[in-house]
Amino acid sequence: MTEVVSKSQSSEHDYDAVVVGAGIAGLYAVYKLREMGLRVRGIEAAPAVGGTWYWNCYPGARVDSQSYIYQYWFSDELIQEWDWQERFPPQAEVERYLNFVADKFELRDNFAFETRVTSADWDNDAQCWLIGTDQGESLSSRYFISCTGMLSEPKTPHFPGKESFQGTVVHTARYPREGLDLKGKRVGVIGSGATGIQLIQTIASEVEHLTVFQRSASYGVAMRNDQFDDAARDHWRSKSAELQEKVNNSFVGFDYSFENGSWYDHTPEQRQHVLEEKWQEGSLSMWVGTYPEMFTDEAVNEEISCFVRDKIRARINDPAIADRVIPTTHGFGTYRVPLENGYYDVYNRDNVELVDVKSAPIESFTAKGLQTSEKEYPLDVIIMATGFNAGTGSLARMNIRGREGLSLTDEWNKDIRTTLGLQVHGFPNLFTVAGPLAPSAAFCNMTTCLQQQVNWVTDCIAYLRAEQVKSIEPTEAKQDEWVDHHDEVANATLLAATQSWYTGANIEGKPSRLISYIGGVNEYHRICDEVQASGYEGFTKI
Ligand code: NAP
Repeated sequence: MTEVVSKSQSSEHDYDAVVVGAGIAGLYAVYKLREMGLRVRGIEAAPAVGGTWYWNCYPGARVDSQSYIYQYWFSDELIQEWDWQERFPPQAEVERYLNFVADKFELRDNFAFETRVTSADWDNDAQCWLIGTDQGESLSSRYFISCTGMLSEPKTPHFPGKESFQGTVVHTARYPREGLDLKGKRVGVIGSGATGIQLIQTIASEVEHLTVFQRSASYGVAMRNDQFDDAARDHWRSKSAELQEKVNNSFVGFDYSFENGSWYDHTPEQRQHVLEEKWQEGSLSMWVGTYPEMFTDEAVNEEISCFVRDKIRARINDPAIADRVIPTTHGFGTYRVPLENGYYDVYNRDNVELVDVKSAPIESFTAKGLQTSEKEYPLDVIIMATGFNAGTGSLARMNIRGREGLSLTDEWNKDIRTTLGLQVHGFPNLFTVAGPLAPSAAFCNMTTCLQQQVNWVTDCIAYLRAEQVKSIEPTEAKQDEWVDHHDEVANATLLAATQSWYTGANIEGKPSRLISYIGGVNEYHRICDEVQASGYEGFTKI
């Protein structure tokens, strides 16, 4: 331990690093910092590890990335020991994996569970963070690293009359761990994004009656989910070095990229062939492995959207229902594309009803169910699959104050600005893994981007300690440079105009900006490496 951090040994509440979150990023960050010899404390609101995969235990929750790239790369032993069961594992399997990691590397002892950070104040004289928790603790730490995930703060619409409803109301991200008995019940699901789709397709056959309250339709891609045997596992294990290299150098952190060249270099027959081939793969390669022009060129996007609309239409018996389930107000891929596994087929069932709440919005709860502007729907259980206050939500809740009392919440209420999504001007030694304006915010296979970001942060901390630098913070000019670049890339795409959590449009009053960097994971890594190699040029070091 260097002199710079020797203050950290002065009391049991003084740490070199505090990491918030025991999900994919938090576990890895704690592991790495501990390996570097730092006194590190993890803080987690849940009673157990898992992060997203702890909280989102609703029926049908499943990862849309293939298991063999949705994993840690830092330990070959771990890669050899863990047996993935499926191509796209369910929530319980990913949660088991993260528990396995926590056990194997003895990470639990470094965490305080069932604890929330309630304040974090930068002490400029001591050059450290003073951190308060809801357990009444006060900690000090040189570095404050948030690994709270992009989608942690559930968005729950406030329809009046909730207290009068006699049934059960839950949000998918706070689904009861013991489950809910939905058999024989009249269930209403609000929301038909990636979460709603997984939930609806899973519970439709179990419930007595399912009412789907849909405001916007989603383009789902039919998932091809293979079960893995030992031979399949051996195959993917033997490729792990190659896969790691591939995902880190790809456009969105997957083992596929836009490898077909330009749309305009292909004949209509070739394009059809590529789209059909990608569709048959049954993965997100249909989204981020066809043609790059899909994101920038309206005409190309419309042709690909038509291809997907036809696929959806073929699944639904009633053309009138198909018309409502097929998206027309946004183009394919301009918003997160969910994989689906029987979703569209549920609309062929007699016990499923689709209610369009765009034309007739939900107005209130009643004692018996939900009231739209047209009629009342009697329900026993209401499940909100209504999404999240993405990116900024969980950070805003921690009441983070930087130099001269600057409030991160207030700053981001005005304008969401970061440097590489990793640091914020005015907040020394705050590192925001999965923060806004990085690919990890939405446009990446999460394990790829989270590991790269944790590596960047821990390399930066190693540098600061070696150079006896107490704090680091981007200059305003450096931050402006990154935000300008981010905006330039974002505004050249069709994504910047979507009305979704991608642009903050799902939260009233949230400043509008594409939350995720869309210049490519490969390009982002190059820029991060360049910053590091330059000795953090454009950053103030004290
Ligand atoms: P979401 O995409 O934001 O969808 C929320 C849904 O709720 C939308 O259909 C929205 O309609 C609707 N909604 C919100 N407020 C409403 C209101 N007042 N009245 C009626 N409808 C309302 O949230 P999500 O489905 O939870 O997905 C969020 C993200 O989580 C995904 O994009 C994905 O990145 C991630 N995710 C990943 C996986 C996976 O890997 N397999 C699974 C699930 C989720 P509008 O669109 O009209 O606002």
